[in-house]
Amino acid sequence: MTAPRPDGPSGGSADSSAPAERRGRELEQGLASVRARVADAAAAAGRNPDDVTVVVVTKTFPPSDVLLLADLGVRDVGENRHPEARDKRGAVDRPGLRWHFIGRLQSNKARAVGAYADVVHSIDSAKVAERLGRGATDAGRTVECLVQVDLDPPGAHEGRGGVAPDALPALLAVVGSIDGLSLVGLMAVAPLGSAAAPAFERLREIQAAARSEFPAVRLLSAGMSEDLEAAVSAGATHVRIGRAILGSRPSLR
Ligand SMILES: *Cc1c(COP(=O)(O)O)cnc(C)c1O
Repeated sequence: MTAPRPDGPSGGSADSSAPAERRGRELEQGLASVRARVADAAAAAGRNPDDVTVVVVTKTFPPSDVLLLADLGVRDVGENRHPEARDKRGAVDRPGLRWHFIGRLQSNKARAVGAYADVVHSIDSAKVAERLGRGATDAGRTVECLVQVDLDPPGAHEGRGGVAPDALPALLAVVGSIDGLSLVGLMAVAPLGSAAAPAFERLREIQAAARSEFPAVRLLSAGMSEDLEAAVSAGATHVRIGRAILGSRPSLR
């Protein structure tokens, strides 16, 4: 049943552009299906789908995928590690792309990230914020910042980052006061092993409370491939989607 594939050196129809075209079609389909999911979830929640930005998470995938995504109209890409993020941004070099740093940020790397990230979703300590701000001002730029909130029950820690909800206001005050940083919102990851919807509803309440004191906290980054519907339903303005667009990653995370 399997057709012979003309992919050997002697295969007369071998075409060096075919793999890129095939990958482009895969990415196009992944994007279309995610945009349809976002549109359905927004409609169900009575929201405008244009108010939800899909950040396409390209971690572990090559710069060539970012270029194909850019050709498909993607403007927001997400990376979770330094220096992979810096190197990929350098290799892609496309004006108009916004680079989001979404992974846990160690304080000894924060200054470097401040030199190139456009948006950082994962601020979870004053030390990280201060160093990120120093890196940004050294480079003469401003980084948009979301503070990551830990939605895991106390004690259930897996080192996924985030500040405890009761420590949030103090950290928002710090981030809001640092040169080179522009406070714009909150981010969270759904807790492992429990339903995303109630966690994201709680995040929405945390945002509403924070926003009454810090009006700048208007963006909400929540939702990944598995749980984007629950996030859009709870008011997410940014969903961070990797696998549903790019396919599965080599194990790592
Ligand atoms: C990898 C990652 C994502 C994307 O996850 P998928 O399951 O591939 O959609 C989103 N947010 C963070 C913080 C990540 O590290």
